[in-house]
Amino acid sequence: MEFQRIILVHYHEIGLKGRNRGVFEKRLQKNLEALLGAYPIVTIHRISGRLLVFLKEGTSLELANECADAILGVPGVARVSCGFKCEQEMEAMGRAACIALAEAEPFQTFKVSARRNHTTFPIDSMQLNRDIGAVLCEEFPAKIVQMKGQDVTVGVEVVEGSTYVYARSIRGIGGLPVGSSGTVVSLLSSGIDSPVALWRMARRGAVCVGVHFSGRPQTSDASEFLVDDIARVLERTGCIGRVYVVPFGDYQREISLACPPGLRVILYRRLMFKVAEEIARRERAGALVTGESLGQVASQTLDNIRATDAAVAMPVLRPLIGSDKLEIIDAAQRLGTFEISSMDAPDCCTLFMPRNPETHAKLADVEAAEAAYPVEEWVQALADAAEPHDYACPAYRPPRKTKAR
Ligand code: ATP
Ligand code: MG
Repeated sequence: MEFQRIILVHYHEIGLKGRNRGVFEKRLQKNLEALLGAYPIVTIHRISGRLLVFLKEGTSLELANECADAILGVPGVARVSCGFKCEQEMEAMGRAACIALAEAEPFQTFKVSARRNHTTFPIDSMQLNRDIGAVLCEEFPAKIVQMKGQDVTVGVEVVEGSTYVYARSIRGIGGLPVGSSGTVVSLLSSGIDSPVALWRMARRGAVCVGVHFSGRPQTSDASEFLVDDIARVLERTGCIGRVYVVPFGDYQREISLACPPGLRVILYRRLMFKVAEEIARRERAGALVTGESLGQVASQTLDNIRATDAAVAMPVLRPLIGSDKLEIIDAAQRLGTFEISSMDAPDCCTLFMPRNPETHAKLADVEAAEAAYPVEEWVQALADAAEPHDYACPAYRPPRKTKAR
């Protein structure tokens, strides 16, 4: 191959004015460098509002496309374009455009869109559009130039001594780079909803730390394996740094022995929130996240949400609160966690469940029932017993003193 393959990574510029911008770009660059270790990449540069991924000489189209697919799913990436680097010289640019366009098949219509940045290159972008368009028309006589609604746009960017030419271009996941919005602690069951909720926060730039409450030792550790599988899927986009597994079964048992049955679930959930909040403090996180959606199950009524929220001081974010189950399932399928989440595993949710859980708990009744237990002591004991499992997340810094296993 005559030209070196490159991948251009575009990001949205909204909200990126002033000092934010450099931080955002550096974060995205670092995340991509860490996540793309398996691909033949020479280097990643920042260049006039884009990141440029340089692939090794001789990289095949298949591998370049695979690499582009991996980039697409990374938060902060608005668009990915595959093409070539060439000289600032018309003939080379024309040849590179022909190869790039051929790789964008199948298509019917196209146009050329050139951009010239801080350059002494003598030909302006309008003229570049016409000249390279003419070369392409000759090479692809069956294709039609179309200025609006075209199938393919051939990008030609003349910038800093080189030219980058591309045609195959795909929309990315969007959002902000993980690490640009602080840290959240996400309550992660092995169900369908919570991985999607975590992912929504990651897409807005939050580093996520999961907390999973296992029914162990009252149940098996099956749910813990599912959560680990889920975390490994999330890990591919660099959004999850750690998952704490909290053996919760004995505490549920304690609660179930004396608590009015209707209030059990709310007491379990308040204790979960408190432990998650304590872990969030230790992780210097700013909020808790759950996968709740209004009215989906008994514990997700407004009254019960209020009764659980009152247990903690930290904000509880619920990115799925207004989503329907089918939308959440679609999102889980795209994310790649649906199949894992659909497997059955007993976790603390299935343990010691009352026959008729209260759907409109009164906070005063809940607090009275809870007063029978040494909750603050339990919270510290459970947070101390939480078992950290680490995942590759370039933006995550673990707190001191908690070694992962
Ligand atoms: P999911 O599909 O996420 O399991 P769900 O529809 O089963 O949710 P609930 O069981 O009421 O609903 O759980 C609501 C939220 O509480 C979950 O989305 C999750 O954030 C949190 N949660 C529930 N069970 C656990 C658990 N065992 N460990 C950690 N968080 C949990
Ligand atoms: Mg569940």
